[in-house]
Amino acid sequence: MTPPAPPTSGSLPVAERPRRPEWMKVRAPSADGAYYDVKKLVEGLSLNTICEEARCPNIAECWGKGTATFQILGDTCTRACRYCYVNSGKPEHAPDPLEPLRLAQAAAQMKLKHVVVTSVDRDDVPDKGAGHYAAVVRALKAKLPDCTVELLTPDFLDVEEAALATILETHPEVFSHNIETVRRLHAKMRGSRASYDGALDLLARAKEVADYPVLTKSGIIAGLGETNDEIVETLADLRAHGVDVVTIGQYLQPSPKHATIDRWVHPDEFRWLREQGEALGFGSVFSGPLVRSSYRADEQKHAADTGRGAVSY
Ligand code: SF4
Repeated sequence: MTPPAPPTSGSLPVAERPRRPEWMKVRAPSADGAYYDVKKLVEGLSLNTICEEARCPNIAECWGKGTATFQILGDTCTRACRYCYVNSGKPEHAPDPLEPLRLAQAAAQMKLKHVVVTSVDRDDVPDKGAGHYAAVVRALKAKLPDCTVELLTPDFLDVEEAALATILETHPEVFSHNIETVRRLHAKMRGSRASYDGALDLLARAKEVADYPVLTKSGIIAGLGETNDEIVETLADLRAHGVDVVTIGQYLQPSPKHATIDRWVHPDEFRWLREQGEALGFGSVFSGPLVRSSYRADEQKHAADTGRGAVSY
């Protein structure tokens, strides 16, 4: 069934509005409080966060509330997606075997109840980092038995089945893999090694491999040149592969070398996209200009868990 057309008031080509619109403005970090506590802690324990590495616009809000999303497996990614600010190249170091313990220590000091962990891609490591993810979940569950864990993983190209088995044996509550963009733009934005159908299959297989009711989750970036109808097609593909939770947020071009931002998606359009996701049956849809996969991730999980429908941003 064709969904009703999105609001026409909205989408503004960047050429017509080169500066950030009002709805993209964020507050600066405050000089006191939790923000600097988080900063000191992650620096002191030599941890990386995707909040900093990807220059996330929500860092003042999230760190100000004492949360952060950890980035494991180093600071150098073996892929080079055209929208991503994370450093790409050949990693100099093997995964640090003590990182899982330091991460668990940080999560304990931050008193996190829901810990979100992501990573760079490590195509240079035989298991693509799956064993390291598993070690992180084990360390977290040992240190914080009551916490829930959300993993936002790479695609584990060519070792998908083994990686899923290794990771899901440790029972993370949420398994997330971002499809990032629509089918038409996927290879252009993510390179030839990544695959749209491969991402869908990884998410579907996670549910089949897990021997417990794992929540699966994915994220879409808007403003890379796709249409709203294409986003709805991607939402339908994700639901057809059993995905429970989805996020949709505005692309921000991190530097002139990165993919050009195509449009500022109006909040009304994000609302419309959320409604399409709700109609498709997701447990939670967070759709808004500043939404990122890990933005208020505990609330996203709670919405899906409690069957409150799409308690959405
Ligand atoms: S939205 Fe996610 S990546 Fe951004 S600051 Fe918050 S926790 Fe970090």
